[in-house]
Amino acid sequence: MTDLIRLTAAELAARVAAGDVSAVEVAEAHLARIDAIDEKVHAFLHVDRAGALAQARAVDDKRAKGEPLGPLAGVPLALKDIFTTEGVPTTVGSRILEGWIPPYDATVTKRLKEAGIVILGKTNMDEFAMGSSTENSAYGPTGNPWDLTRIPGGSGGGSAASLASFQAPLAIGTDTGGSIRQPAAVTGTVGVKPTYGGVSRYGMVAFSSSLDQGGPCARTVLDAALLHAVIAGHDPMDSTSIDAPVPPVVEAARAGSVAGLRVGVVKEFRGEGFQTGVMRRFDEAVELLRELGAEVVELSCPSFEAALAAYYLIAPSECSSNLARFDAMRYGLRVGDDGTRSAEDVTALTREAGFGPEVKRRIILGTYALSSGYYDAYYGSAQKARTLVVRDFARAFEQVDVVVAPTTPTTAFPIGERADDPMAMYRADLCTIPVNLAGNAAMSLPCGLAPEDGLPVGLQIIAPALADDRLYRVGAAVEAAFQARWGHPILEEAPAL
Ligand code: GLN
Repeated sequence: MTDLIRLTAAELAARVAAGDVSAVEVAEAHLARIDAIDEKVHAFLHVDRAGALAQARAVDDKRAKGEPLGPLAGVPLALKDIFTTEGVPTTVGSRILEGWIPPYDATVTKRLKEAGIVILGKTNMDEFAMGSSTENSAYGPTGNPWDLTRIPGGSGGGSAASLASFQAPLAIGTDTGGSIRQPAAVTGTVGVKPTYGGVSRYGMVAFSSSLDQGGPCARTVLDAALLHAVIAGHDPMDSTSIDAPVPPVVEAARAGSVAGLRVGVVKEFRGEGFQTGVMRRFDEAVELLRELGAEVVELSCPSFEAALAAYYLIAPSECSSNLARFDAMRYGLRVGDDGTRSAEDVTALTREAGFGPEVKRRIILGTYALSSGYYDAYYGSAQKARTLVVRDFARAFEQVDVVVAPTTPTTAFPIGERADDPMAMYRADLCTIPVNLAGNAAMSLPCGLAPEDGLPVGLQIIAPALADDRLYRVGAAVEAAFQARWGHPILEEAPAL
C-alpha cells in the first residue's frame, strides 16, 4: 500500500487501467499519507476525503463497465486553493473568503474531473497568490519537506510541498511572477508555466489578469506533460484563452532530446545575490546540455534588470482593481453588519479585517500607481518596460530555440528570514518574472543540490509563446541525463519525514 505513494502519475494510471490496483486503493493510500504527515507539512488547507473517494469509485466503475479511461484516470491530485471547486471551500489563502463555498467549478477543476483525476483537496498558498514563501497565508505557513524550518516557495508552496512529501503525485499551481516555478525549484519538483492563455483562467481567482497563468506541477517531466494536456486548450469562458491546438507536450516529453538545439544563456542572470552553489549547479547543467548535443549561445537581455520594478507596478495595479470585488456584499466574510452601519463602513471594516498586510500593501501601491496624475509616470512607464522585455525575448528567440537560467537566485530560505522584508522576498522571483511579462512558457526542473546546504536547485527552461512542447523535449532529456548520473530521482535524497 505505501509503495503506491512513491509511484509516478504515469505508473499509477497504468496500474489502475490494468486493474492491478483500484483507484479507491490509490486514493486511500494518499489520504493515509496526508493523515500521517500533513500536520507537520501543512500542505493542505482542506482535504476532501468524501469527494476524492467518490471520484475514485467513479473511475473504478467506469473500468468495470469496460468504458475507456483517460491517460491519468484514477491519479490523485492536490489543487491550489485559488481554483473554484463546486461545494468545496475555496479561500485563496485569505480570511476574506473563509467559509465561502463556490457554486461552480473552474474550467481547470472541471477538466480534471472529466479526466477521472482524483482531487484530494485544496493546497495552502500565499494570500491571493502574493508572495514567494507561503508565509502570507492567513492559515499559517507550509514547511519545505526537505527541511521543515524552511519555506517551500510561494505562492504555491502547498502544491509543491504535497509533491515533495509524497502526499500527491500531481498538483496544480498558478504563476503570476513565478509561483509555480519557484516552489518547484526549492522543493526539487517540476513545475510549468504554460504560454499565457494556454490554460483557462475561468474560475481561477484573479490576482493580476495579464500575468496569471495556471499550470501543472509534478515529480517528473512526463507527469507534468500528461497533466498539461488535460488542463490546456481553448475555453470560450476565458476571453484571453488561446484558440489554437495545444502544443504536443506529451509527445515531446516522450521524445526528450536536445541534439542540434540552440540554447541561450542570459548573462544578466548571475552576480550579486546569486548563491554560489546555485550557480555551480546551473553551470553544470549548461555543460550537460552541451554534452547532450546542444549549441550554447550567450545572450544579453538588458531590459530584464527593469522587469522586477515593472512587475511590482503592473501586478499591484491590476490587483487593486481585481480585489475591489471583495466588498463584503458578494462573498465570504462580512464584519460590522449590525444594522447601524452604512454599506461603505461594512465594506471598509471587512476589508480591514479580511486582508493581510501584503495584500493591503499591494492594493495601496496599485491604487496610487493608477491614480490620475501618477498614471503615466508609474503604470505607463512600467508598461513601456514590459514592452522592452518582450523585445529582448523576441531578439533572443531569433538566435536560440530555448533560453535557460537558474529558476531562483538562492535555495529555500528559513521561514521568517524575509517575512518583514518585502524587497528581499520580491527578489526570489528575479529570474522568473520576465517570462510572465512577456507571456512565454517556462519550466523549472531539478538540477541537483547546492553543495553548501544540500537543498534543491532548479533549472529554468524558457520557450517562446506557443512552443510549450520545447520545454518538455529539453526537460525530459535533462531529467534523464541527471538521473543517469545520480542513479535516482532527486527526491530520493530528501530526508525522510
Ligand atoms: N512572488 C510573486 C509575487 O508575490 C509572484 C507570485 C505569483 O506568481 N503568484 O507577486
